[in-house]
Amino acid sequence: MSRSEDLFSKARRRIPGGVNSPVRAFNGVGGTPLFIEHADGAYVFDEDAKRYIDYVGSWGPMILGHNHPAIREAVIKAAQKGLSFGAPTELEVAMAEKVCTLVPSMDMVRMVNSGTEATMSAIRLARGYTNRNKIIKFEGNYHGHADTLLVKAGSGMLTMGVPTSPGVPAEFAKHTLTATYNDLASVEAIFKEVGDDVAAIIVEPVAGNMNCVPPIKGFLEGLRSLCDRYGAVLIFDEVMTGFRVALGGAQAFYGVKPDLTTLGKIIGGGMPVGAFGGKREIMEFLAPLGPVYQAGTLSGNPVAMSAGLAALNALDQPGNEAALAAKTEKLALGLKAAADKAGVALAVNYAGAMFGFFFTGEETVSNFEQACACDVEKFKRFFHLMLQEGIYLAPSAFEAGFLSLAHTDADIDATLAAAAKAFAAL
Ligand code: PMP
Repeated sequence: MSRSEDLFSKARRRIPGGVNSPVRAFNGVGGTPLFIEHADGAYVFDEDAKRYIDYVGSWGPMILGHNHPAIREAVIKAAQKGLSFGAPTELEVAMAEKVCTLVPSMDMVRMVNSGTEATMSAIRLARGYTNRNKIIKFEGNYHGHADTLLVKAGSGMLTMGVPTSPGVPAEFAKHTLTATYNDLASVEAIFKEVGDDVAAIIVEPVAGNMNCVPPIKGFLEGLRSLCDRYGAVLIFDEVMTGFRVALGGAQAFYGVKPDLTTLGKIIGGGMPVGAFGGKREIMEFLAPLGPVYQAGTLSGNPVAMSAGLAALNALDQPGNEAALAAKTEKLALGLKAAADKAGVALAVNYAGAMFGFFFTGEETVSNFEQACACDVEKFKRFFHLMLQEGIYLAPSAFEAGFLSLAHTDADIDATLAAAAKAFAAL
């Protein structure tokens, strides 16, 4: 029995499913999850001392690579001064300045502790600001596990969402309307029916939770103009795309300005941090300035702020954005070429430093239905073949992959060589 197998069986006795977040359990691919002992640069090392080239990157935060010295040292230095004060610090001011400079649509920002908190709070704020109830989200987009966001499309009905999880009352879900990603007509239809009560659209500007699905030309622009026409707040959930698709987020990459932005992952450098922010007149609706309540004992935590600031400062250097994009393109196009050579039908998507590949005969995948139609069984076999070769991909056909600055050309070449072998074996 491997150490991971042993630990997993112990974990399952005391932790539901043996994990503290579901997708880690390898439910999407079968088998035993790797228990990670340490990580460095582009690599994770499991409890059985095997090294893997890592394309999960802690699900996004590790854009500089694991155990980056600047972040590690910032954390140690901050920890020596005390772990939490529950009072304002200079670090929070520096963080707010940095974020608002990198993401120019944000005039003001509030720190929270996770992406879930960021989206939940942004929605409450949009509802409070507009004095409206309904929100529009997209099928296959994920925005954390707040009640109003765990909702899928009702069967054929525009006006009522259905909870995706027991424990969410139908009454909570009924204000969440679900549209089709990359299909403006599906959004317009909702506005035509209930536009006066739509507080906000929330969207992943590049979807990363149905594998990687970029917006088609005109989609984000169309959402912007519908929100303007109907007086709704446009929220870009950039928890995954922020600082990754481009330094200024997907909004910089595609040139569309949301009213509110939610952030997470990279902004904490590996510590638990999220943030939401945007237009001053909306943000001033938040307590203590305004009537919309939102708070957090550990929000703006000094150790987390130090880690996040170190990460953003290290990332915000000339050449990094282009280097990340080049590495990602090399990997994505390399995977496609290797699949073609082996006669395996594959579509690839990528944007900035995120990528996805789909076992499908379709040329492109641009919505949830197409993503779901891909060959998941083939993905599972490919995943395990790659794992054997020391390549750690996200353990689900519906998650995006992430590159970091630590991935070298040699790492990517090794990955492509492993992929060529795996494609041939499929
Ligand atoms: N929004 C998006 C786009 C995400 O990808 C995620 C998590 N993967 C979240 C929100 C929720 O973030 P967290 O897991 O930190 O609560």
